[in-house]
Amino acid sequence: MKTKTSSMKTNKILLSLTLALTFAQAAWALPNIKVLATGGTIAGAQTAQSDAGYKSGTFSVNDLIKAVPQLTNVAVLSGEQIANIGSQTMNHEVWLKLAARCNELLAQKDVDGIVITHGTDTMEETAYFLSLVVKSDKPVVLVGSMRPATAISADGPINLCNGVALAANPEAKGRGPLVVLNDTIHYAREAQKMHTTRMDTFQSPNRGIAGMMNTGKAFFYSMNTTRHNTKSEFSVAGLKTNDLPYVAIVYSHANLGGEMVDFLVSQGVKGIVLDGVGDGNTTDAALAALEKAAKQGVAVVRCSRTGSGVVDRNVEVNDDKLGFIAGMELSAQKARILLMLGLAKTNDPKQLQQYFVEY
Ligand code: ASP
Repeated sequence: MKTKTSSMKTNKILLSLTLALTFAQAAWALPNIKVLATGGTIAGAQTAQSDAGYKSGTFSVNDLIKAVPQLTNVAVLSGEQIANIGSQTMNHEVWLKLAARCNELLAQKDVDGIVITHGTDTMEETAYFLSLVVKSDKPVVLVGSMRPATAISADGPINLCNGVALAANPEAKGRGPLVVLNDTIHYAREAQKMHTTRMDTFQSPNRGIAGMMNTGKAFFYSMNTTRHNTKSEFSVAGLKTNDLPYVAIVYSHANLGGEMVDFLVSQGVKGIVLDGVGDGNTTDAALAALEKAAKQGVAVVRCSRTGSGVVDRNVEVNDDKLGFIAGMELSAQKARILLMLGLAKTNDPKQLQQYFVEY
């Protein structure tokens, strides 16, 4: 009897040891993903007064992670609060902090990927900026939501689930920062917010989407071929906000005069991106002011406000003669970022043009 009880005890101990080992192995096998939170609607709560109104950046990173317990099946997560703002107020200070933290974390052996929670208004800009200055091929995934956390059918939790699954997926390596919302994956260079409120607001109008998420699994449709991350020559290591050259965007429309451009030049602007009509065009008055600016050493890049397509050199505007740079496929908001980083290295228009071809 004594022997039977002691062997039952031994069996129980062995069973619990085996279970503990299995759990430990399962946890060991799960990738380590860092969640860096910056605010946005995904962390937003509706205001008491009205259902439509809400405040971005109300919940903390830990609230976001705790709200989706399923995440622990996919990855070992830990969160950090980088900022807690509506991304309409995103700024260079937060970008530099975020880029530095991504570089630090991704250089660690025990970090497999990063998820950044972010407002959707400027998500494409942050993603593109990080694609130029983060020196790692490990996955970086940006997620947000169109409905605040307290709304009926909030989309934040599923987007966060998809983001974590994607960051934990080795197939996401080498693709640069990815934007995932509404089950759709976009490359940083291609992503564009195109609707004020709809869930399918992000589109990749020029080169198409990177892939889709289907019940937590990623299906990639294409590979991005432009330079990014470990293939990028840009770096913000050690830079302070004021070290970034001043680059502004001028929006073109019927009857635009040259006074905006003249004013920017008087303020010491280093680069101007023209968000032009059609194929990067503008009025004669604005063109004349831009030509004058270029002659004074201001880098002038032509983009299109149409939302898609290529603005190539010397089509309706003689870039060679005027000393302008063609923005190629970049939207004005992304061209501003590339021009700013480009100008931190050179002000040779030929070299700057080359950046717009390669990135
Ligand atoms: N204004 C919000 C933001 O960009 C919108 C959103 O997150 O969807 O922070």
